[in-house]
Amino acid sequence: ARSHSSINNRFWSSSNSCLLPLLARPIQIVQANEHNFELNATALEEVLLQKHVKDLNVVVVSVAGAFRKGKSFLLDFMLRYMHNRDKDSWIGGNDEPLTGFTWRGGCERETTGIQVWSEVFVVEKPDDIFIMNSYFNLLLMNFQAFQHKLVQSTIKDSATVFALSTMTSSVQVYNLSSNIQEDDLQHLQLFTEYGRLAMEEVSEKPFQSLMFLIRDWCFPYEYCYGMKGGNEFLDKRLQVKHNQHEELQNVRNHIQHCFSNINCFLLPHPGLKVATNPKFDGRLRDINEEFKKELAQLVPLLLAPSQLVEKEIGGNKVTCKDLLEYFKAYIKIYQG
Ligand code: GDP
Repeated sequence: ARSHSSINNRFWSSSNSCLLPLLARPIQIVQANEHNFELNATALEEVLLQKHVKDLNVVVVSVAGAFRKGKSFLLDFMLRYMHNRDKDSWIGGNDEPLTGFTWRGGCERETTGIQVWSEVFVVEKPDDIFIMNSYFNLLLMNFQAFQHKLVQSTIKDSATVFALSTMTSSVQVYNLSSNIQEDDLQHLQLFTEYGRLAMEEVSEKPFQSLMFLIRDWCFPYEYCYGMKGGNEFLDKRLQVKHNQHEELQNVRNHIQHCFSNINCFLLPHPGLKVATNPKFDGRLRDINEEFKKELAQLVPLLLAPSQLVEKEIGGNKVTCKDLLEYFKAYIKIYQG
């Protein structure tokens, strides 16, 4: 069997005949500029058309939500998991600073858009029945959008970019702070409606997995941290009741109908050093024990080979090469 590392070490830019290594970094692939959307197709081609990945099916895990709510911090731990997945412990040493999406100098942080990690991970999925291994790619996406309180002028941009990231991902992590508010559900309804309308074949459930990720959860005595408490909490929040206002019922029905699979995970507060110390560099020593314990559960839930969901559009699995074409087609719809 091919080893992960030998495949990922062959990490070359396909568009360059000199085979220059493509530096592992976040790449801005979609940017919103005054209600106009630009796809950086050249950059995306460099990522998706690398020889060793282009024909393999793709899994796309996307983290979406407001600015400055810990998305990059989480994605950096996801990268650490992918880089250390052959080791006994992936989470890293106490004094190891985090690298990846966060703390990258000189990069514009507050623009609405989509970034992808330039490195596409090749994952081996053992198939129990045929004793055969299948391989596919994992692409990590960071969707930076809306301010916490949306203003009318940015709502369309956010909806469009959220729709794009949902249409192109197999797992959408909806990163929220402290609770699921009624607005969060309404925004999700609007964003997914934008996506659903743009897709040609509207099957019953146009999107795959959605995970509500609630940061700084403060009520562990009511619903415990993790996915079990999260799903109990979510069931209650998404419950449709006869005495509810019609609008509230519609939002809930819409969300349930859009995704094949919906979960929720409750994460504790990471501690004051993470939240407020400007010198914090991501090292584990400065993070609360409770947070690390839950993080160690969450990341494998999203990224362990047995959990990965290959991207499907209209019932067909999508390769990296196909994904590039879908990006180009979808962006045209919104540019029009
Ligand atoms: P992004 O803009 O959503 O990607 O946010 P970042 O990952 O850059 O994090 C923004 C700030 O929030 C940083 O100072 C992080 O140290 C801090 N942070 C990260 N995770 C959490 C969390 O779960 N809770 C709190 N309160 N702060 C966090």
